[in-house]
Amino acid sequence: MKNIKEKLLIICLLFISFYALLYTFKPFTHQKTVRYLQDFSNSSFSYQTSMNGEPSNEAQYLFKKEIERQAYKFPDVYFLEQPAAKRKKIKQIALTFDDSPDDWYCPQVLRILDKYKVKATFFLIANRLKAYRYNAEAIKNAGHLIGNHSFAHQKMTEMTTEQALADLALAEQEFVKYLEIQPLLFRPPYGVMTDEQIIELGIRNYKIINWSIDTYDWDTSRNSPEEILARVEKYAHNGGIILLHSSGKDRENTLKALPLLITFLQKEGYELVTLDKLLLVKAF
Ligand SMILES: [Zn+2]
Repeated sequence: MKNIKEKLLIICLLFISFYALLYTFKPFTHQKTVRYLQDFSNSSFSYQTSMNGEPSNEAQYLFKKEIERQAYKFPDVYFLEQPAAKRKKIKQIALTFDDSPDDWYCPQVLRILDKYKVKATFFLIANRLKAYRYNAEAIKNAGHLIGNHSFAHQKMTEMTTEQALADLALAEQEFVKYLEIQPLLFRPPYGVMTDEQIIELGIRNYKIINWSIDTYDWDTSRNSPEEILARVEKYAHNGGIILLHSSGKDRENTLKALPLLITFLQKEGYELVTLDKLLLVKAF
């Protein structure tokens, strides 16, 4: 009897030692992986967001479905809005500006944000940092959050994953060189990337962030200041991420709409926060 007990004890100890060893060496044997859920393309699932429901054509409708699918599939890496579990009592919303820096619209956007004491997130195109370094520094020094919007603003879905990673590496170099930062928030140009690219960026600790409220300030067929404001009034929601543009093309209408929409959001009781505060993620 005693013999059996001893044997059992030895077997138990062996098991414990084995798993202790396995656990010790785990960091060396396992690459970081990205958790993902199954596809829901054919299910009736609809992402719980007030993502602007105004796609004006088939391509925009498909784009909306695609980013909702990816947000559902990669819940730890890819965001369209604040996850419900992180939602606070106080209403929060994030303004995000793409395509800066430049030397014309960017300073004007900064002046408006300063006037209303609002902090926002800017997704910068890295190949513009050299030419507009001082405006990029102005964004940083004003206390806004900076994210990576690629090096060359090319559609990643038209690139191989290797090409996309090479572009990302170039962008990283420029951010370090000109701003001495390494942003970990990434917004793909035009909001599009492949699942494989999402996984690769996730492994590199990036968070990919698109939006739940498209103001369509980029769409010249329907981007009057009144139309931009009306969309924010209609679709603003707690935990929302608002897409705006602060450089790149003619942004006069965005400039005109900005004070109006900030006034509206503040009156509605929203706290306007940067994405790291909205999503509780590491930005650098
Ligand atoms: Zn862009």
